[in-house]
Amino acid sequence: MSKISLGIESTAHTFGIGVVEDKKILADEKSFYKPPLGQGMLPRKVFEFHSENAANILKNALIKANISLKDIDVVSFSQGPGLPNCLTLGAFIARYISIKYKKPLVGVNHPVAHLEIGKLLTDCKDPVTVYCSGGNTQIIAYESGRYRVFGETLDIPIGNAFDVLARSLGLEMPGGPVIEKIAKKGKWVDLPYIVKGMDFSFSGIVTECQRLAKRGVKIEDIAYSFQESCFSMLIEAAERALAHTEKKEILVTGGVAANQRLNEMLEIMCKERDAKLFSVPLKYSGDNGVMIAYTGLLMSNAKCFTRIEDSFIKKDWRIDEVDVKWM
Ligand code: AMP
Ligand code: MG
Repeated sequence: MSKISLGIESTAHTFGIGVVEDKKILADEKSFYKPPLGQGMLPRKVFEFHSENAANILKNALIKANISLKDIDVVSFSQGPGLPNCLTLGAFIARYISIKYKKPLVGVNHPVAHLEIGKLLTDCKDPVTVYCSGGNTQIIAYESGRYRVFGETLDIPIGNAFDVLARSLGLEMPGGPVIEKIAKKGKWVDLPYIVKGMDFSFSGIVTECQRLAKRGVKIEDIAYSFQESCFSMLIEAAERALAHTEKKEILVTGGVAANQRLNEMLEIMCKERDAKLFSVPLKYSGDNGVMIAYTGLLMSNAKCFTRIEDSFIKKDWRIDEVDVKWM
């Protein structure tokens, strides 16, 4: 019998509600917090924004899916990692629905959800995943019951690096798409390249880019070189993870997966390694409620439910702490 899952995403800038019926997407409603020009995301402001929008997003998702809360079989929510006050809002709504409508609750690990929706939508089976978003940057692959982290950023996530650099250059948020566009006209200038073992670091490159900008180096050259350097680092680690695991697929996901140059560079590496590149469709590579709903459904099919008393948020929850019982 088919099952309907409602998923709530609320880890950072996006508040989203997704509804899936088995593998079919019935609704994908969301709103994004965008800070004023020149400012970062203040957690209090993001929380206020989500609080004001949450009820409407939920209502619209139910209308789109043509269901009412009584019709759902499971309520899923992003339990972590993320901004604590945003996570709390999502968890609160999920608990309310669970208790009031007597629906089983599933707390979903947000990075796991990025991977699962990626696998569903691209049809890849057992990839090395390059997860590159505003809040996380990791090279991940499944091994013995868990998604293992083979390499990760030692400081800031790559999407955050794009945003910090863009902000200091006076560009619009989110910074990724703007830097990508400007980079098309740029030439190489020397930048640091920081890979340590399987891990990488982005904050020093951002600082060097800021220094170059102050010295009057052209912004398009900075944007171009920034991308080349950061992406090469990511791909070096991904390539070694491929070699180590002997897997034959790369999945790229997270908001930065929208970047064409990153995909181009990954494609070249995959070709050389006889591997296949899968890129999560743009609509679902950033944060969304559908990935939470779908992962919640996979977990509920494997009887991985969350008791109300265990549904507290986990702001630092790592992907490699999750037992993957549904594979
Ligand atoms: P997420 O956290 O997964 O929702 O992704 C948001 C992040 O993706 C932000 O930091 C954006 O700057 C970044 N991003 C979005 N589009 C692009 C792009 N075309 N190139 C690089 N970064 C991007
Ligand atoms: Mg994300």
